[in-house]
Amino acid sequence: MNFLIVGAGFSGAVVARALAEANHQVKVIDQRSHIAGNCFTKRDVSTQVMEHVYGPHIFHTNNEKVWEYVNQHGKFKPYINRVKTTYQHQVYSLPINLHTINQFYQKLFSPSEAQHWIASIADQSIDEPKNFEEQALKFIGKDLYAAFFRGYTKKQWGCEPTQLPASILKRLPVRFNYDDNYFAHKYQGIPEEGYTPIIESILHHPNIEIQLDTSFSQDMKDSVDHVIWTGQLDQWFDYSEGRLGYRTLDFEKYEAEGDFQGTAVMNYGDEEIPYTRISEHKHFAPWEEHEKTIYFKEYSRHCEEGDIPYYPIRLVDDKHLLKKYIERAKIEQNVTFVGRLGTYRYMDMDVTIEEALNVSSRILTDISNQNSIRSFYHNEAF
Ligand code: UDP
Repeated sequence: MNFLIVGAGFSGAVVARALAEANHQVKVIDQRSHIAGNCFTKRDVSTQVMEHVYGPHIFHTNNEKVWEYVNQHGKFKPYINRVKTTYQHQVYSLPINLHTINQFYQKLFSPSEAQHWIASIADQSIDEPKNFEEQALKFIGKDLYAAFFRGYTKKQWGCEPTQLPASILKRLPVRFNYDDNYFAHKYQGIPEEGYTPIIESILHHPNIEIQLDTSFSQDMKDSVDHVIWTGQLDQWFDYSEGRLGYRTLDFEKYEAEGDFQGTAVMNYGDEEIPYTRISEHKHFAPWEEHEKTIYFKEYSRHCEEGDIPYYPIRLVDDKHLLKKYIERAKIEQNVTFVGRLGTYRYMDMDVTIEEALNVSSRILTDISNQNSIRSFYHNEAF
């Protein structure tokens, strides 16, 4: 069969490869002038530092199959994400751990003492947290919430934390030991030469043709049997039900001599500081040496037409709209929706790859059973 895949990020590349290996002809288009979507990395011309052009990406997963898959396509170096945060002229360690708690309260708590302390300041009147703020108050109480989450979250999401789902906070743990590894996954790393060669390798197959700088138009559907759509779900339907909300990011780039902040990521919890974090990219490749440095101040704002969509907001209104689009997507013919934009979800790279592999096997099963290919795919768990 002939497939058209719209989008050359992880979702598009992984599906393309699976279909190509099953002897189908695959054309991948992308409106950008490069592959790899928001995972795109390239060397900064002036410093030679590996730049994560659309923001830093750290690969972390518990999924053996996904870890094996990406390692087949490039060399990963071990990398542990250790994030710091600044609040009122002090630097703290994230995710909230024993060091953070002891420093914040100027105590010398042991793990069990800290646990009792947090339980005593946490808001125990909240049974079932209905939103981000309630989840945080129940978890850590109002002071730690105000220092590390309220300001950051308001800047990041552009709304009150009471309007956000509790699930966003569940991404972050609270630890009663000195473990400051941001992710609790078994495998963690960054590709030695960045993400672009990994996706290049996935797409490298005789049955795959890539066409960059190419936007999708409806007439392209006519020349193929099936389309895999990894673009925005609402865009496929010409936004006819309304626009799903996204946050976009602006990165202000700086170059300097030496070391700017001594670490890869510094978050800023103060609401008055307009950026959410500063990332210094050479620290994402500690195996390299550079005399110069580049760093980026990251600002979050509402995604307007023409901006790059980063985070699906999924507030109550968006959820109503999303439901309408999903209903339409499920009955749409000759197209499959997949990925972060195609299913409108906050997804890490490993989940994106796992789902793309699952979509591919589902498509191949449908073909071998001579069924029509099902159109909407997502794992409810995410
Ligand atoms: N968050 C926060 N303070 C921080 C870091 C994260 O309040 O210093 C909140 C914020 O709402 C963010 C969410 O936790 O959107 C998830 O954080 P994560 O670091 O996973 O975000 P990502 O790196 O995906 O932007």
